[in-house]
Formats: sequence, structure tokens, C-alpha cells
Amino acid sequence: STREEIDLNEILADVVAVTEHTLGLSHIAVHRQFADSLPRIDGDPEKLRQVFVNLVNNAHHAMLEQGGGELLLRTRIENDDVVVEIRDSGQGIPEKHLAKIFEPFFTTKPVGQGTGLGLSVSYGIIHEHGGTIGVESPVNDQQQGMLPGTLFRVRLPASGSGH
Ligand code: ADP
Ligand code: MG
Repeated sequence: STREEIDLNEILADVVAVTEHTLGLSHIAVHRQFADSLPRIDGDPEKLRQVFVNLVNNAHHAMLEQGGGELLLRTRIENDDVVVEIRDSGQGIPEKHLAKIFEPFFTTKPVGQGTGLGLSVSYGIIHEHGGTIGVESPVNDQQQGMLPGTLFRVRLPASGSGH
């Protein structure tokens, strides 16, 4: 697979560009809080784009029933890691499901609508890149003024950080 020096702000800007219109039709407002500049990470841009498209599509789906909501995409630097957070104001994930969502074929979507593969494939891609992916639902902090919803946090080592 292709390995390049990647700016995750650029990957996320691409993901916003291709999804924002559709999200708008579902009355979902997209907010970005991107770090001014990020260290590069070493990886496969197409695979990483796929991860963030999966996370945004899941967030979209989680907000459909309530007729809309807010999607917040955040990037920041923490130690030698680049951290990406995808937060939605959707229905949230019941506690009994939290331990299963990264398993292949786990889905709560009707037959034919979800494969249950998005998060397990994403988990694999992030771990191939030396990173981690985690979830918080309901989200605790009310700082952003958003409904509790769900937050996915992806952490990837900056290139040359020796991880
Ligand atoms: P699929 O989207 O095909 O169901 P995924 O692996 O992408 O498969 O997600 C697995 C399950 O995790 C979903 O069916 C849903 O129950 C839950 N889930 C994932 N993301 C969210 C989210 N942002 N909000 C609420 N539930 C979610
Ligand atoms: Mg999915």
C-alpha cells in the first residue's frame, strides 16, 4: 500500500468537501476546529480517508431520526500524536453495545442497510498505522454546547516520533 507524508487537516477537509452538501440536506451543521498546522503522519491517504468517511457516515445516520444536528470535526496535537475527534449530537450508543461496535458484522441497522464492517475495517486501518481509535458515548463535556451524542477519537503517531 502507498505510504506518504500526510496532513490530516487536508484529509478531513476533503471528507467535509464530499459530505457537507448531503449532511446539509439532512439538516446537519458541520463545524471544524482544526489545529493551525499539524505534524505529518506516515500512511496511506486513501485508507485514512475511508476511515473518516465511515465515521462521518455513521454520525450522519445517528442524527437522521431526530431530523438533524451538529457534527464537529476537531484536530489537535497531543505529545507526539495527531488527534482527530469526530463528534455528533445523535442518538448515542447504548452501553451494552459499546464493547461490540468494533467487531466485524456488529450492526444495529436494518438488514440490507448496514454491513457492520465500517468500524472493524476502520479499527484495522488505524492500528496498521500504529494508532488507536476509541469512542465516548454519551459525551460528557457540555463545553461545546452540543447534545451528548457520540465522539470517536483517532490518535496517530506523528512521523518521525519513534513510535
Ligand atoms: P454499520 O454502519 O454498517 O452498522 P459500523 O461498523 O460502521 O457498521 O457501525 C456499527 C454500529 O455501531 C452501528 O450499527 C451503530 O449501532 C453503532 N454506531 C457507530 N457509530 C455510531 C454513532 N456515531 N452514533 C451512534 N451509533 C453508532
Ligand atoms: Mg458504518
